[in-house]
Amino acid sequence: NEGTSLDFIRTIIAEDCESGKFDGRVHTRFPPEPNGYLHLGHAKSICLNFGIAQEHENGICNLRFDDTNPLKEEDEYVQSIQEDVKWLGFDWGEKPFYTSNYFEVLYGHAVKLIEMGKAYVDHSTPEAIREMRGTLTEPGTESPYRGRSVEENLDLFTRMRNGEFADGECVLRAKIDMTSPNIIMRDPALYRIRRATHHRTGDAWCIYPMYDFAHCLSDSQEHITHSICTLEFENNRELYDWLLDTLDIYHPQQIEFARLNLTHTVLSKRKLIQLVEEGHVRGWDDPRMPTISGLRRRGCPPEAIREFCSRIGVAKADSMVDAAMLEFCMREKLNAVAPRLMGVIDPVKVVITNYPEDQVDEFEMPLHPELEEYGKRTVPFSRELYIEREDFREEAPKKFFRLTVGKEVRLRYAYYVTCTDVVKDEQGEIVEIHCTYDPATKGGWSEDGRKVKGTLHWVSVKHAVPAEVRLYEPLFEKENPNKVEEGKTFIDYINPDSEKIITAYLEPRLAEYKAGERVQFERLGYYCADLDTTPERPVFNRTATLRDSWKR
Ligand code: ATP
Ligand code: MG
Ligand code: MG
Repeated sequence: NEGTSLDFIRTIIAEDCESGKFDGRVHTRFPPEPNGYLHLGHAKSICLNFGIAQEHENGICNLRFDDTNPLKEEDEYVQSIQEDVKWLGFDWGEKPFYTSNYFEVLYGHAVKLIEMGKAYVDHSTPEAIREMRGTLTEPGTESPYRGRSVEENLDLFTRMRNGEFADGECVLRAKIDMTSPNIIMRDPALYRIRRATHHRTGDAWCIYPMYDFAHCLSDSQEHITHSICTLEFENNRELYDWLLDTLDIYHPQQIEFARLNLTHTVLSKRKLIQLVEEGHVRGWDDPRMPTISGLRRRGCPPEAIREFCSRIGVAKADSMVDAAMLEFCMREKLNAVAPRLMGVIDPVKVVITNYPEDQVDEFEMPLHPELEEYGKRTVPFSRELYIEREDFREEAPKKFFRLTVGKEVRLRYAYYVTCTDVVKDEQGEIVEIHCTYDPATKGGWSEDGRKVKGTLHWVSVKHAVPAEVRLYEPLFEKENPNKVEEGKTFIDYINPDSEKIITAYLEPRLAEYKAGERVQFERLGYYCADLDTTPERPVFNRTATLRDSWKR
């Protein structure tokens, strides 16, 4: 946010503050349904709602669990959502809110609607109700139960609550207009019967409010000023307004914005659940998942997600954001703070033939080129080293400044070495590269000022820590896996090489890294110690390469 121009939502809110519409108050909410883990789309909504509250003096943003569907909701999700919002850097005050806390209040509002002649109990079958709803071109038709008296409806609704009817036997519907051009206004259901144990209210209720009914009333209950939601709720705004106007209670303003779509990704809890349940990934927090917990495990800093949300902005039209943009934000944040250490992910052995067999040099190296406060670490150097296989070429093109026979390169912070010859196995694969070193170049520089173009990272073979390194690529090869061809599902577009596990050799200090600690392996990319890491068997995830190398 450059501070130069406000997005359309912030503009509306600024105008409302100016005109004193809500007494100058700004009170937003983030209302997840606890039926899955939060993903990047939610992050967009979180940054928007909490962000707006932060930008206004006395601004407030509630975290509200929209928990009206006991079949799909679980406490595990309530916990993970709180953890993720906190990790993203936002604060919802003393305690979160729950729609289930308002069940009694909501019930009271439903009774009031019945008393006003604005709601009725319908015993039609679900199919009949669907049939009567009509289509975009055909008006709906009225239910035979629409004319029930207030007394009868009050009695029936009480009996619904008391469990006298079976699941699906009847619903409470608003009595609005079966000929409305907006299908949502054709007597929408307000309550349904569902015998399921709720994660908070247990078996206290067997009827549960529908989303459209519960949502506006919860917003009203909490004195929300601006109820920001995604575009697919545009048609629901009419019902949102109708319910609050009819009940004549406090009335927030609903505003819709475009949801986030990201390339090579699915962002729908239903699809993410399927990936988890069918075992295509390690879990909700798999580093390839677009979930907040997955991004965290992969090594993405929360600042990068906030920066990403700020860069993509808020618009009124749907669009697709390039996943490379998120990687860009990750690199930018990680570059600033990640300590630099050395690891070799595709090793080939170098033998320094003129270096004494049992000698070990110890080099002090800064942990970050700019951040002196990070201090230094000690890196051992010995006669046998690993370097990256791609840093050596037998037949080197002109512009190849790395190692080749007869050429001199710098081993980072250590010595200049010159390649003399290579040893190959029977298949012709290089197994050893022989070099000589110049003892006068200790520390990686030479008094005579002679030029060496290449600088390579390295790890001493006898000190190296073998580690499991998980290299990640996008989970979906297809740019838009939501767009499926005939006879396929999004599952068919999973990238079979999205996770590649290799053994890398790391400098000793990296064995001490704890889960969640981030690092730049010099010249390779950003990595993060995985939850599975142990000092005996370190495990690192590749967060991002140094440059964008996606095949697209
Ligand atoms: P999903 O389709 O993944 O199930 P949802 O909208 O049903 O998402 P909720 O838990 O109801 O999930 O979402 C909480 C809030 O997050 C809502 O206000 C919703 O608008 C917002 N949100 C969800 N997905 C996105 C997205 N892709 N982009 C922006 N906001 C989103
Ligand atoms: Mg929802
Ligand atoms: Mg949903």
